[in-house]
Amino acid sequence: MAPEPSIYLALTDDWELRGDGSGDPEQLQFEPLRKLLRIYEDNGVRSTFNVEVMQQLTFREFQTKAPELKPLADAWDDAVRDAFRRGQDIQLHIHPQWSNATYHDSKWHLSGDWALPRHDVKIARSMLERGKHYLENLLQPLDSNYKCVSFRSGSSCIAPSSFALTLLVQLGIVFDMSIVGGLRVNTRNLQMDYSQCEESFLPFYPRLDDARKVSDKAEPIICVPIFHFYLSRLQTFKQVTTKIGEKLGADRSPSNREGYSQQQWVEVGRSSRFQLAYDKAIKPCLTGKYMVADLSQMNYPALKEMLAAIRSRARQSGLSELPVILTGHSKYMKDFAVEAFVKDVSKAPDIKFASLTDIAIKLRAGHFTVRSL
Ligand SMILES: [Zn+2]
Repeated sequence: MAPEPSIYLALTDDWELRGDGSGDPEQLQFEPLRKLLRIYEDNGVRSTFNVEVMQQLTFREFQTKAPELKPLADAWDDAVRDAFRRGQDIQLHIHPQWSNATYHDSKWHLSGDWALPRHDVKIARSMLERGKHYLENLLQPLDSNYKCVSFRSGSSCIAPSSFALTLLVQLGIVFDMSIVGGLRVNTRNLQMDYSQCEESFLPFYPRLDDARKVSDKAEPIICVPIFHFYLSRLQTFKQVTTKIGEKLGADRSPSNREGYSQQQWVEVGRSSRFQLAYDKAIKPCLTGKYMVADLSQMNYPALKEMLAAIRSRARQSGLSELPVILTGHSKYMKDFAVEAFVKDVSKAPDIKFASLTDIAIKLRAGHFTVRSL
């Protein structure tokens, strides 16, 4: 029997406020970061925080007019430096809706398009360049070798685009991690269709105008997809009944987060009660639920199913070594089931934790197979 493949598992976290700029940085960013750092340190995990830099650039831009923003922006810098000093990787994440932000009555109003590909190429270039420079200026005093080597586009929106990957190449980004196979979004802010991605698991050379497609040759940038899988019908049923229980037990007025999700993330044309119940409860229970491998969206049994799905696809690949990337949104973590998960994984002989920088180094050195047509 062939030996088990070695899996280099990258735990990542999109570290940011909500997509509409709402939320308290202490509650959504600083506190969950402290918790994750403790969990990762206790278990010897080197993870990566994909820090959303447009938010921070905008806080800095407004801090003279609105002085209450300055301590928050300073605390953001301190938190990022602290995570980096403690051995965690920091990489580039951009939500372009922060372009053209305004600030009134202590609230952000974000009018920029949520999709990077829908921005003018010059504006997109400026956002990427400013974000990269901000992070490198912040962290190079701590480690002169520090560089942004990977990119995660806001809301995963990267393809198709006539310019997005080319801009990343010009900035020296080694790989993009925005593709999530099977993901389809059609909301008031975003439309994208990754249901036909030609590669949804292994690193691949993308066509530069459309990262959903595999290039027929080596390209100057690589895509590493975020893992996805289907939760079993049993676990889906348990999740759905727990959610219904929570809703029935909760106060009827929607929380800030629910209000935000209802406004920003409802599928266009699917807002009636029946359609929502069908999409969110009935259909997943019948077929198994499509899951983006997002550490904040899974309880411990779901995390264990995800791990089994990762091992199964790794075995099918026939490769002896490969990277797998998970995403996360610590702003939404409630029970931090990730703690039990990393305890298990840290004892697994076939899995090593890797940062995105570790993966970039191995990709550049030709250590991992990169698919082309
Ligand atoms: Zn994000």
